[in-house]
Amino acid sequence: MRVAVVGTGYVGLTTAVCFASRGHQIKCVDIDESKIGKINSGVSPIFEEGMDSLLKEVVESGRLTASSDLGNTVLDSDLSFICVGTPALEDGSIDLSQVRDVSVSIGKTLKNHDRRYVVVIKSTVLPGTSESVVIPELEENSGLKVAKGFGVCVNPEFLREGQAISDFLNPKNTGIVIGESDTESGDVLAKLYTGFNGPVLRTFLRTAEMIKYARNAYLAKDVSFANEIANVCSAFSINYLDVKKGMELDSRIGEGRFLSAGLGYGGSCFKKDVLALIKKVESKGIEPKVLKAAEEVNEIQPSVVLNLAQKALGNLNGKTIAVLGLTFKEGTDDIRESRAIKVVELLLAEKASVTVFDPKGMDNARKVFGGKVDYSKTTEEAVNKCDLCIIATEWPEFGNINLFSGKDGLIVIDGKRLLDYNSIPENIKYYGIGFPILDK
Ligand code: NAD
Repeated sequence: MRVAVVGTGYVGLTTAVCFASRGHQIKCVDIDESKIGKINSGVSPIFEEGMDSLLKEVVESGRLTASSDLGNTVLDSDLSFICVGTPALEDGSIDLSQVRDVSVSIGKTLKNHDRRYVVVIKSTVLPGTSESVVIPELEENSGLKVAKGFGVCVNPEFLREGQAISDFLNPKNTGIVIGESDTESGDVLAKLYTGFNGPVLRTFLRTAEMIKYARNAYLAKDVSFANEIANVCSAFSINYLDVKKGMELDSRIGEGRFLSAGLGYGGSCFKKDVLALIKKVESKGIEPKVLKAAEEVNEIQPSVVLNLAQKALGNLNGKTIAVLGLTFKEGTDDIRESRAIKVVELLLAEKASVTVFDPKGMDNARKVFGGKVDYSKTTEEAVNKCDLCIIATEWPEFGNINLFSGKDGLIVIDGKRLLDYNSIPENIKYYGIGFPILDK
């Protein structure tokens, strides 16, 4: 199938590369010329496991090209994915300007399109958006009617950064959700997913939109629940990880992958999606109590780490603190809404001298912090420079106790509970989220 992918960020690029790897002819569109140049030379603009090699392969095979020419790309395709950003506005509500702009442009092009076309919204949009924004713009600008001249689908994306390609190609744990304006359009999209190993749910447009928010909100509230219990455990001098093990024995709770204690949820999705849903729900006169609580707890977590640092060192003014990990999770270079960034900001506000290190996130961090922090080249360098070190992202390499044990008297705050606390040597002072405050 000839497919256009509009927006080549984490979602668009993954969508494009994965469908191209399945033999489809993909044309990407972006307004960012630097991304287009990189993609056409087979170089990924983002760090994502396996992306470099797969992108190179599909570009060299001629199955994927990129340009800034939306009109001709749409004319040359049978279906387009809208994968542009839907960031939060200042007040937390959703900014739909990118989605609206692209809908207008596709609509204008559809005037001259000689076949029935399908527009698929992959960007995360609130329930009702396809019907109140995308379809009206497409109809008005094309002069065509939905379900007749063109079809619309909502196909929310469930990939996790760090394993985006494998998640996309193997949706057996996430499923494929297709909201559809009409059966014919849903059939076209379902056909595109032929051979993908995952259950397919076909439903109404707004139901598909809601499913994405319900899933993100559910997981966000799990993270905040775990963090609240972890904070309580610390205060009662209980190790939360032992409590977590006990909780997981209950099959109703199960594996509890979102019960890890840490700095809270970060990344480009959870926070903005929870905030957008809160705003939307409030506009309907409903009080979203659980959603608000999830957000409130999440906002507390970075300051839990700050409090531990102050407990260990007293006044932080002039103290050198190393923050290990800046990305919002391991396996990505994405620092959007990273809790590690928040921790650095809190430390700087206390006039601490901060050195940072991240295996993949340094370039993006430089854009945020400029000259405000020191940049270490390795974990070892950061540890050697500091009085206290904070593990802020769960990169596996930070879980090696030998990195810390060579420095007598080092204070380690394990913001991700990565270290095996049973093997912490006596010469290190260990603190952690959900770790007994009075012990060790
Ligand atoms: P992103 O910010 O990384 O990428 C968006 C891209 O769209 C950018 O490259 C930007 O230049 C481009 N763009 C903006 N306006 C454009 C226009 N008019 N024409 C062409 N390109 C344009 O965003 P992302 O992280 O890929 O997320 C995209 C959407 O997918 C969002 O709605 C997000 O909530 C959702 N989502 C993201 C993830 C994730 O893990 N990142 C997962 C699931 C869903």
